[in-house]
Amino acid sequence: MIEFEILSIFPEMFASPLNFSLLKKAQERGLVNIHLHNIRDWADDKHNMTDDAPYGGGCGMVMKVEPVEKALNEIRNPEGVSKVVLMTPQREVSNQKIAAELAGEKRIIIICGRYEGVDERIREHLVDREISIGDYILTGGELPALVLIDAVCRFIPDVLGNPESTQSESFSINLLEYPQYTRPAEYKSWVVPDVLLSGNHAEIELWRKKESLKRTYQRRPDLLKNIKLSAADKKILDKIKQKDI
Ligand code: SAH
Repeated sequence: MIEFEILSIFPEMFASPLNFSLLKKAQERGLVNIHLHNIRDWADDKHNMTDDAPYGGGCGMVMKVEPVEKALNEIRNPEGVSKVVLMTPQREVSNQKIAAELAGEKRIIIICGRYEGVDERIREHLVDREISIGDYILTGGELPALVLIDAVCRFIPDVLGNPESTQSESFSINLLEYPQYTRPAEYKSWVVPDVLLSGNHAEIELWRKKESLKRTYQRRPDLLKNIKLSAADKKILDKIKQKDI
């Protein structure tokens, strides 16, 4: 079971995406617990300010350090059990490996920034890990946090109906997944590859491996640099490169 503690000034944004399908079921079954906290509850000046103008000037507002630190002090107990994650575009982009790693944590506290981001001292003194979901800037850390929660939850045992899904999936073995089809076998003359209808499991396995390698080579050749292929797979890849298959 993993507990997520979300620190945001818009906790209401989380309700709907967490209330459907597998994430909803995972919460109902006690596999994951998601607690939402409004950072504003820890803002103790008279206007409940969670942000202020940047030192040195410039546009926009910056999220203040005190409310976030106070929130963490309260939520983090007992010390050492939680991982504090800051959502930020200023890091290498997260991936399936990072999601799998985080799924091994007991408690993950996620800080969602807004406006121009957070006071640098939050990053320096209060955070264990920074995570980006892609090289684009969003208006806040709430959607990135939801993306992260979703990706992490899929690695919690029993969240997915079939645990094998995470093993054959794109990126899990650094290859993109093979193409998938479902009924009908023919729709407007668009047909499903014969091999998938053959019932020959060895042939199907081989076809899937070949398609997976081909897809990765054509669309994400960068992934192939970080993977140790078996001798058999190397042979298939060579043929793909020579446009033999
Ligand atoms: N001015 C900042 C961007 C602030 S965006 C800069 O140039 O780096 C406001 C907040 O949205 C950030 O603090 C972060 O929490 C969140 N955010 C925006 N884009 C993100 C991304 N790609 N990944 C993760 N968090 C992101």
